[in-house]
Amino acid sequence: MILILTPNIEPESSSYQQLIAHLSRLQNIQLRVHREQGSEQSLTEIYLIGDTSAIPVEDMKSLPGVERVVRISEEYRVLGRHRGDQRPSHFDYQGLRFGQDTLHVFAGLCAVDTQEHVELMMKALRDLGQVCTRMGAYKPRTSPYSFQGHGKNCLPYVFELAGKYGIKVIAMEVTHESHIDEINDALRGTGSPTGVMLQIGTRNTQNFELLKIVGRQKEFPVLLKRGFGITLSESLHAAEYLASEGNRKVIFGLRGVKTQLGNPHRNFLDFAHVPVVKRLTRMPVCVDPSHAVGSRTSGPEGILDLMHATAQGVIAGANMVLVDFHPAPNRALVDGPQALLLDELPHFLADVAVAREAYEKRVALAARYAVELQTAGA
Ligand code: PEP
Ligand code: MN
Repeated sequence: MILILTPNIEPESSSYQQLIAHLSRLQNIQLRVHREQGSEQSLTEIYLIGDTSAIPVEDMKSLPGVERVVRISEEYRVLGRHRGDQRPSHFDYQGLRFGQDTLHVFAGLCAVDTQEHVELMMKALRDLGQVCTRMGAYKPRTSPYSFQGHGKNCLPYVFELAGKYGIKVIAMEVTHESHIDEINDALRGTGSPTGVMLQIGTRNTQNFELLKIVGRQKEFPVLLKRGFGITLSESLHAAEYLASEGNRKVIFGLRGVKTQLGNPHRNFLDFAHVPVVKRLTRMPVCVDPSHAVGSRTSGPEGILDLMHATAQGVIAGANMVLVDFHPAPNRALVDGPQALLLDELPHFLADVAVAREAYEKRVALAARYAVELQTAGA
């Protein structure tokens, strides 16, 4: 059960104190308080953990400081959608809104290799009005002998160039808690010219200790990739680990699942799950067509499989696209075969816009038919 308190309630206020005193007397119920400082107001929620089935909602509603009460019957307590639940399905970061109704493209390098490539990539993005990118500094690789990423050494120039080209958010995978400190240090050292979205890769979706650590920091939003060999529900529980530790700025990333049935693609596309994640949870949903398709093959009409996959995700309502580009894919140190060329960026973005427009028309169509059905039934 969640008690949503009146906005801006002060922990020192008498109504808050009375409320906590009352709740603390409930038998076998533990309290977890979550405070979120927004730009305009602070919101406080109290989670009652334990068997709350015998506690009447009306009793809780009448307590001092309580505005609304949500009985959680489903899983995914913090990030899930529950009946009567009007909690937001968006968050703001770096002046951008990330929600279930917005769309951002994060085109960029799978892995940072040279400063020159970072600059070419960011300049191409700036020239097309883009303010987000992906830049891998810490790369989890199948072989220990493969390039592991430049790590903290590349962060200062990546952040400085982001500032120079107006990039506001960089998606960047972390695989160890020390990486968060390194990112923080480099941001501070360069005067925070940009923001970072921490990425948990598919190989770490169930690295629970990493999830807890990343969840405890509230500075950076998190993109959690679906695990490639586990169920959707298991991956959604992983996202809940982040939120239960305090960080609710979580985006859920679909990137295909591993099975021979996906051949000749690298992974089997799972973008039909975009509306499923949006229905079960309040998280914005990202699709990563690059790691799903894995190559630059195209269909007979000349459209790359990767662009078809992107369109499938966007037309189904995806809120973020994470996609590999590279100025010279044959010289990329990671995932060159799936990288799109900078010359292809305008076409890619125009194709995303077509799919987004189609999605918006489909939403309007659904609303129109719902009204017609209602009027016919009335
Ligand atoms: C990546 O986005 O660079 C990556 C390694 O993705 P995934 O974790 O989905 O394989
Ligand atoms: Mn990659």
